[in-house]
Amino acid sequence: MIHIRQKYTLSPKMQRPDWDTYFMLQAEVAKLRSNCVTRHTGTVIVKEHRQISTGYNGTPSGIKNCFEGGCPRCIARIKGETKAGENLDRCLCTHAEANAIMQCALFGNAGSTRGATMYSTFSPCIECSKMAISVGIIRMVVLADYPEDGTRLLDDANLELVKLDHGFLKPWLSLLIKDPNLSTELAKNKKN
Ligand SMILES: [Zn+2]
Ligand SMILES: [Zn+2]
Repeated sequence: MIHIRQKYTLSPKMQRPDWDTYFMLQAEVAKLRSNCVTRHTGTVIVKEHRQISTGYNGTPSGIKNCFEGGCPRCIARIKGETKAGENLDRCLCTHAEANAIMQCALFGNAGSTRGATMYSTFSPCIECSKMAISVGIIRMVVLADYPEDGTRLLDDANLELVKLDHGFLKPWLSLLIKDPNLSTELAKNKKN
């Protein structure tokens, strides 16, 4: 069953994001590197409050970028010839969740996903849900729904599934784009 987080609690000692918000912000940053024309998604995998992997969606490394015509299915999708979530088996873009899982294999981190949490800016599709279950992910935190949703499968596998309210991210995103000296000012104010 999906658990929706709507309450936000700030630490009384210092204004900083809680763990779920912090790692979802990292997933939001990761999605900026997406090269897919259909949608941008970002994922991070976290173990013991440390980020162990990052992924965003797009064509495989060394293949022409999706926005440069690298994936015919995505082109058909934006032309309206294919619906969202359809013909994914013919898509050349790898999903963010899959890329994050593969990054663990690429850098010799295999096995580190066991017991980890996955943060993703969309609910995972069925394929990515299958992979997440198989590599031992035990908790998944998501922001938005995806048309070909694998959440029922995750539920069957007893993964804890949390949907985060997008409003949690906004105050921190606005801090990121402010003058860098602001963080020093905030720290000074706390001491006073
Ligand atoms: Zn694409
Ligand atoms: Zn997927």
